[in-house]
Amino acid sequence: MEVLTNTTNRTSAELIDLEHRYNAHNYHPLPVVLDRGEGVFVWDVEGKRYYDFLSAYSAVNQGHCHPRIIQALVEQAHKLTLTSRAFHNSQLGIYAEFITHYFGYDRVLPMNTGVEAVETAVKLARRWGYRIKGVPDGQAKVIVVDGNFHGRTLLAISASTDPSSRRAFGPYLSGFITVPYDDIDALEQALQDPHVVGFLVEPIQGEAGVNVPSDDYLPRAFQLCQQHQVLFIADEVQTGVARTGRLLCCDHFGIKPDLLILGKALSGGVVPASAVLSSDKVMLTLRPGEHGSTFGGNPLACAVAMEALRVVEDESLASNAEYLGQIFRARMEALYQKRPDLIKGVRGKGLLNAVLINDAETSETAWNICLAMAENGLLAKPTHGNIIRFAPPLVMTEEQMNECCSIIEDVFTRFEK
Ligand code: PLP
Repeated sequence: MEVLTNTTNRTSAELIDLEHRYNAHNYHPLPVVLDRGEGVFVWDVEGKRYYDFLSAYSAVNQGHCHPRIIQALVEQAHKLTLTSRAFHNSQLGIYAEFITHYFGYDRVLPMNTGVEAVETAVKLARRWGYRIKGVPDGQAKVIVVDGNFHGRTLLAISASTDPSSRRAFGPYLSGFITVPYDDIDALEQALQDPHVVGFLVEPIQGEAGVNVPSDDYLPRAFQLCQQHQVLFIADEVQTGVARTGRLLCCDHFGIKPDLLILGKALSGGVVPASAVLSSDKVMLTLRPGEHGSTFGGNPLACAVAMEALRVVEDESLASNAEYLGQIFRARMEALYQKRPDLIKGVRGKGLLNAVLINDAETSETAWNICLAMAENGLLAKPTHGNIIRFAPPLVMTEEQMNECCSIIEDVFTRFEK
């Protein structure tokens, strides 16, 4: 069999054909084939440069191939990459101390992907419910909200209300109660059940279309959870690590979750690294052998994640996101005034923003706008058919942001349905 490994001379069209032919069809990407990235830019195999306004779904907050993070990767890769947790490694203890101090928690449980960390948090909440709250074995429930996105494993889709994630994958896990998002009365009602151990929520719903709750929803939800002895579990996989203009999105609302779930930008998009952070009381309900992962806490990911978090602080990425987000929303609001036929709203916080397209979810309008933006050197992607998310790396400069807004305005102004 001929094995073709040389990609250097392949065109985008050829590489798309290969993916189509040999890869599972579980995504519907924009037709660009990226080959290189640096900071806010990516280049396709033909050498065309784009501004990246997706940041790998907010994993590349520190910018593509950040030199400090890559250096940490290379240095550690030359020393030791994986030991499993059968032995200690020289990075894990240092990382655990670093990340718990960084986010203000007693303990961390390192995993790899976002969805694994979600799964871990739900297991911890159930375990805490049985061992500390006194819920009868097998009866624990976790409240989730309508429109959530926590990933694609069976646990995450069991908690999901999105038919395209769930359909034809049953049977599902039980033990979830779904309430509408941003509805405090519905949450209060659900909390009456004494078997509830946790409330799992994204502070801003990213995949659902950058849904920002009312200002008092999360603080009141947090208070109600405390009153009912229920753990407040924040899924900050997409919103965390400076994306929304604060280190954590929960910081906007003055709350500190009992369980904090992080992923994506924790490692600057360099290696998979996710984490659950919590108190001694919750975390120490787990005993050796009761949870784990071969790669979780590996020295490579630990070294990379520490440098990725130092970059966030040293380069003031949260305040940059806050500042540039205001510029972006102001210019998009002005565009909305000019093209209400095409836009029906703008929302977001920091550099997690969405422009809502004034057309049906099933229409091609948002997709075609994204194609036109790509043509003009800016990559973004619709979510739910008619919402375009704009989430560039947080290392963007004001000048670059203004240039990007001009590209977007230009495309929208000339666009015809
Ligand atoms: N939770 C949230 C809020 C997410 O946005 C995502 C991914 O987009 C996940 C969990 C799952 O993360 P991963 O794809 O790394 O498993």
